Amino acid sequence: MTARYALDTHTAALQQGRLLISVCAACATPQFPPKARCGHCGDTGAPRWIAAKGTGELWSFATFHKAYLPDFDLPTPYVVAVVALDEGVRVYGNVVGRPTAELQVGAAVRARFVIDRCGPPRLTFSLDDEEFDD
Ligand SMILES: [Zn+2]
Repeated sequence: MTARYALDTHTAALQQGRLLISVCAACATPQFPPKARCGHCGDTGAPRWIAAKGTGELWSFATFHKAYLPDFDLPTPYVVAVVALDEGVRVYGNVVGRPTAELQVGAAVRARFVIDRCGPPRLTFSLDDEEFDD
């Protein structure tokens, strides 16, 4: 695996409560995770990283009734989702704050950031109409 595919920049930003996504350095087309070759212009250079707004829509989701990682701190059941960010890329995250029955594909969501003491930072979303005390 080359540095081209590395998510270190993305992961380090999550640790600081920022959501960075990669874009083609030549044509600025968002591509996340980073690609070896830009699907738009064919550029093979290193990506550039930009701050995403953290807003988007719920593209798909599933409810998990078992925690598969020992340090995972969300109570079961929990929601794993694919969110289509407003910048045009899709990311994985958890959706918190509402029962699964109240979630709908296409719902507006907003990123929150969870810093686990024991694990890597985790991207979490809530419905965009919710207020949270972070
Ligand atoms: Zn490009």
